[in-house]
Amino acid sequence: MPPASGDSSESAPSVGELTPPTRTLMGPGPSDVHPRVLRAMSTPLVGHLDPSFIEIMNEVQELLRYTFQTDNQWTIPVSGTGSAAMEAAIGNVVEPGDTMLVPTNGYFGGRMAEMARRAGGDIVEVDAPWGEPLEPADVSDALAEHDPDVFGFIHAETSTGVVQPDVSELTAAAHDHDALVIADTVTSLGGVELKVDEWGIDVAYSGPQKCLSCPPGASPLTLSDHAMEKVLGREESPRSWYLDLSLLEGYWGDDRSYHHTAPITNVYSIREALRLVAEEGLENRWERHRRLAGALKAGVEGMGLEMNAPEEYWLPSLNAVRVPDGVDDGEVCADVLEQYDLEIASGLGDLAGEIFRIGCMGYSARPENVALVVTALGDSLESLGADVDPEGGVAACRKALR
Ligand code: PLP
Repeated sequence: MPPASGDSSESAPSVGELTPPTRTLMGPGPSDVHPRVLRAMSTPLVGHLDPSFIEIMNEVQELLRYTFQTDNQWTIPVSGTGSAAMEAAIGNVVEPGDTMLVPTNGYFGGRMAEMARRAGGDIVEVDAPWGEPLEPADVSDALAEHDPDVFGFIHAETSTGVVQPDVSELTAAAHDHDALVIADTVTSLGGVELKVDEWGIDVAYSGPQKCLSCPPGASPLTLSDHAMEKVLGREESPRSWYLDLSLLEGYWGDDRSYHHTAPITNVYSIREALRLVAEEGLENRWERHRRLAGALKAGVEGMGLEMNAPEEYWLPSLNAVRVPDGVDDGEVCADVLEQYDLEIASGLGDLAGEIFRIGCMGYSARPENVALVVTALGDSLESLGADVDPEGGVAACRKALR
């Protein structure tokens, strides 16, 4: 029966204008978006096959190659978040019956394993505790024992604040066993030293909302010719039609023919974010992240807290700070959000309740934000009963910023 006139199912919902709070984003991502990127997002749409858009696509690919430090022709922004680029990498490279070696030292190694399993792969693991990197000797042993087709690792583990050192050693060992290497660079691209070609990485994927300071929606992916040979030589199509790289090639390769409607505004945004990377220069950008995250680290240590990762594998873009005795991490995060409009995050998985995760990424990596984090964290911890020295933290941070 049709609803009677005046029935509530016919009345339009009354929703107010969008007024999100103004936060400072110093969590594990997204980071603050640069005003130039926001402006690029408010420019008019063109069609996804418009000649002017084809030119924009070429520019994005060129800028992505620079940012990944690669000559790979197969370098594109995948429509979707970092997980889409991750699934495009794993779902195309791993064929049913392949074996993939994955790490156990953080949350995102687990996601890699799950995606490879869904692609029909068999999973074998190389172990390291959460909060530590993989040991090259352990990776070599696992490669010798399992002879995998693919080896995946997380370059910058967002759940633990650890950067994987010795990447060239890991890739060389994998190549000795004819395994292709997939690197998760979601929290390193554009913020932490990363050299895809020089380090022998076959496939790398990332996300735009971390060190590129761009809203999520178009996620970087690069594959070497060798990796693409495997993808194009598959006997069975990948399980996802949307992320099938042999089809996406039609749009991002020479043909420029329709596959799906590109998220045009997201392509504009990543173009502007990558332009900012190129203007600053990658080396300068890596140095800025180290310097500002170094001041953040000096500040938290100066107030008496401990970093979870030792200096050798500390990840500047994601600072894992031990939660001091006597406070609840969730209450601290809620307090800094309420009092300071500042976002930081709690730990995940094995480190839940044990660490705070404080990002220092892209446009968020600025002196005023670092000073705010140290001030806000010291204040909240002290008012919630922790034994910290907020003034000591601020003084150490200020000194490091000079
Ligand atoms: N890999 C790592 C290391 C990440 O930190 C994230 C997100 O935080 C992802 C993959 C997944 O990216 P997204 O949440 O954009 O899908």
